[in-house]
Amino acid sequence: MDDIVSLVRPEIYAMRPYSSARVEAEQVARVHLDANENPYPPYPGGPEQEGLNRYPEPQPPSLLSRFTEIYGLPVEQLFLSRGADESIDLLVRAFCAAGRDGILITPPTFVMYETAAAIQGASVCRVPLVPGVYQLDTDAMLAACDADPGIKLVFVCSPNNPTANLMDRASVLWLAERLRGRAMVVVDELYLDYSGQPSLAGDIVGHPNLVVVRSLSKEYSLAGERCGITLAHPEVVGVLRRIMPPYPLTVTAIRAIGAAISPAGIAHGRRNIERIVAERDRVRNALAQLPAVIEVFPSDANFLLLRTEDPQRLCGALAAQGIRLRDRSSAIDGGVRLSIGTPEENDELLQALKLHG
Ligand SMILES: *Cc1c(COP(=O)(O)O)cnc(C)c1O
Repeated sequence: MDDIVSLVRPEIYAMRPYSSARVEAEQVARVHLDANENPYPPYPGGPEQEGLNRYPEPQPPSLLSRFTEIYGLPVEQLFLSRGADESIDLLVRAFCAAGRDGILITPPTFVMYETAAAIQGASVCRVPLVPGVYQLDTDAMLAACDADPGIKLVFVCSPNNPTANLMDRASVLWLAERLRGRAMVVVDELYLDYSGQPSLAGDIVGHPNLVVVRSLSKEYSLAGERCGITLAHPEVVGVLRRIMPPYPLTVTAIRAIGAAISPAGIAHGRRNIERIVAERDRVRNALAQLPAVIEVFPSDANFLLLRTEDPQRLCGALAAQGIRLRDRSSAIDGGVRLSIGTPEENDELLQALKLHG
């Protein structure tokens, strides 16, 4: 635990966390006059809007107890946020003092880590993935942390966005071992269920500086409701609870999340994941045949990264037909990222690409 306490910004422990009416109310009451809510339902009323006039539970126990079953960790090791984006932001704020500390990232990777660091005034150390295989350069990462003790968070994205591949599990654990007491290793597993591989969350027991970030956005069709789940040592969860916004999840989000993670909801989600994985293989094979495509990367996620001569022209031509792809050539030479859609959407894409030539 001291390993973690010594890494958190001292100001975070020194401050008094905001305590909302919902946190302070220990007993269920009949009449709620403690939070300046409006007692009347919002317009136009009706069953869907019931309860919208009340503040939600900050960390709903019913959701937490389902997540303990889904992720196999006790409730003290779970933290719910408004999407994984908010978790990333809170981690940076908790561990990195402005102007003093920093994060380490492994480009090409998810851009939000850098954005969160910039907002916080934390420095960003870049140790590129090994070219060609796009795996962690663990020796160089460790050397970077040796050189700069201000690095408090190391972000590892696995499967990585945009290269779509899993990071080697043993390498991540080796790094966490070496950095224990010096930096937290945050593993972003937003796409893990598309890989069929187990989470690193089970290794938090042996590696207290390991933090795993999950979300319902990419895997369980709930991007629009915003739900991130952070799996970490109880001390980290305690710190995140100190600095979280008073009510991260809305009343409607809590309902939608409850349905999505019910046993039937998870079974439904898993079937969709299987469909997407089957389509991923079909689309990848078809793309590889096209003259405009130089290379399609193998994928452990629900998207593909391809390389093409002229990414701007390709994205422009498809956009003109109403199909939007993501030009990632700033991250990877000639790189274009595309999500796997429904079979019909994927057929449309392949047809448009054939015409494009
Ligand atoms: C989409 C994405 C996120 C953000 O997820 P939300 O839960 O919707 O905030 C985080 N990390 C990676 C790698 C992503 O691709």
